[in-house]
Amino acid sequence: MESRATVATHTVTNQPPETTGRDAFADDLPLREAVTRHARPELREEIAAELSALGWDAGSADHRRAGERADAHPPELRTHDRFGHRIDEVEFHPDWHRLLGRAVEGGLTDAWGRPDGHLRRAAGFHVWTRVEAGHGCPLSMTHAAVPALRADRELAAFWEPLLTSHRYEPGLRPAGEKAGVLAGMGMTEKQGGSDVRSGTTRAEPIPGGEGLYALTGHKWFCSAPMSDVFLVLAHAPGGLSCFLLPRVLPDGTRNSFRIQRLKNKLGNRANASSEVEFDGTTVARLVGEEGRGVATILGMVAATRLDCVTGSASLMREALTRAVHHTAHREAFGGRLVDKPLMRNVLADLALESEAATVLAMRLAAAYDRAEDGDAAERHLLRIALPAAKYRVTKVCTPVVAEALECLGGNGYVEESGMPRLLREAPVNSIWEGSGNVQALDVLRALQREPGALNALLSELGRAAGADHRFDAALKELLTELSDPEGIEGRARRLAERIALLTQASLLVRYAPPAVADAFCASRLGGEGGWAFGTLPGGADTRSIVERALPDPG
Ligand SMILES: Cc1cc2nc3c(=O)[nH]c(=O)nc-3n(C[C@H](O)[C@H](O)[C@H](O)COP(=O)(O)OP(=O)(O)OC[C@H]3O[C@@H](n4cnc5c(N)ncnc54)[C@H](O)[C@@H]3O)c2cc1C
Repeated sequence: MESRATVATHTVTNQPPETTGRDAFADDLPLREAVTRHARPELREEIAAELSALGWDAGSADHRRAGERADAHPPELRTHDRFGHRIDEVEFHPDWHRLLGRAVEGGLTDAWGRPDGHLRRAAGFHVWTRVEAGHGCPLSMTHAAVPALRADRELAAFWEPLLTSHRYEPGLRPAGEKAGVLAGMGMTEKQGGSDVRSGTTRAEPIPGGEGLYALTGHKWFCSAPMSDVFLVLAHAPGGLSCFLLPRVLPDGTRNSFRIQRLKNKLGNRANASSEVEFDGTTVARLVGEEGRGVATILGMVAATRLDCVTGSASLMREALTRAVHHTAHREAFGGRLVDKPLMRNVLADLALESEAATVLAMRLAAAYDRAEDGDAAERHLLRIALPAAKYRVTKVCTPVVAEALECLGGNGYVEESGMPRLLREAPVNSIWEGSGNVQALDVLRALQREPGALNALLSELGRAAGADHRFDAALKELLTELSDPEGIEGRARRLAERIALLTQASLLVRYAPPAVADAFCASRLGGEGGWAFGTLPGGADTRSIVERALPDPG
């Protein structure tokens, strides 16, 4: 007779297979199409090969496990060594370094001055951060520090090659001894983050120090504190100014950079976000002119905002992929979930948001490339479309991920499905780099102070005019709303949302299959969608929309 211990209780059925061992770029049809669309013809193959290399690694079981471990083992602060000396170091899990290393090697901090550099980098960020989003933070800040540093030619000449390098060298050493560095930023203080002018950190010129200042103050949020260099805001005699603050000084001594504690965060757990203090001996170098700090650091902030859009698009794609995969393999009531009309409506609705976010992010990345090449209209378009995109795409990310989680039923609520990690991560992109209201107010500022911005937006939207009656009607409505200054501040979110939606719709109408464009316009512009996902109107071709989200069959 069989012993009790060896009796099989049941065999596992109706659970989906593993999804690893695939090229995450090849499987992402909307992303591939957008990259092909915007890339110069002679670079298309090269860029696709680069993205596929990242895609295979992003889809590998090995890197997926690394992402899970980096998140499950958050960084630890070590303020002192065992003898009592202050060291202010943060220890990360080895997989954090491994993921960062692969990303830097893959060019995810190298966009400026590279042909189609922003497009290929943004697409790479989209593909790669699906493995783990937390390490996207230092990648973003390192990439984004470049335009701010360009306010000082000499500083840029030294730092730019290090920031854009494809070599990752962790550890605190003088930058001159490294082949690559990471950058962070310190703007937010206890008393205010949106209103950076409320900062109290002071900067006193060091006599005979040639542009060097001593900083006294604190920063309430300072992420990736093991970065080599930070751009910080502080009040100099001439007003709020931007400073470059290295963790290690050129002579090899450590700059005073007192990490007080690490934040215990909702998500983004692989990344360290710290509170730091500058004690009056902290040495920093002025970037740009005194009193021009906000203008200088805005170059950095704008670039990180694009990464918030791309990062949210990446999270949504990851959540959607998991939802589609699960429902394609899970059966209930005699059939696959993906074939149930109501589940298909939910998946199609999520797929619309995912695709709309991806095409918008890639369009804005391409605008960065063209603006860098001197195209003023593209620069103006970014000025208004970027805060609008940051507003809408980052905000819709959380409900999209929550709904995708529900597609997995109870399994989705369990940690090992990976969905809770995505859900915890989702809200951060709408908070940092300017929260929702701040983005909406920035859209207003662009409208009111930069006449070129509205013209550039209208010319972009005009390219889709006549292709869909709901689009045409919504554009007309937007113009009416914009012409009414009464109570406009209180309507800023509404305006930002409409601008982002219309820009997304214009891209889908021009480039996506009719099923996608039609369902997006009907549900987002035509008032035929409900407040929950899965409420696309009866005529929507949900089968075609979901098929686009399935992995590449080739
Ligand atoms: C995980 C994480 C990491 C971070 N890392 C960094 C970092 O490395 N460096 C750094 O400098 N900062 C960092 N931040 C800080 C972040 O940028 C700020 O939290 C953010 O800018 C908001 O500032 P605040 O928290 O002071 O909120 P507040 O400025 O107090 O704003 C609170 C709320 O009021 C709204 N609001 C503000 N002004 C207005 C207005 N005029 N009208 C209507 N509503 C308004 C805001 O949108 C927000 O919703 C990080 C934050 C997080 C969560």
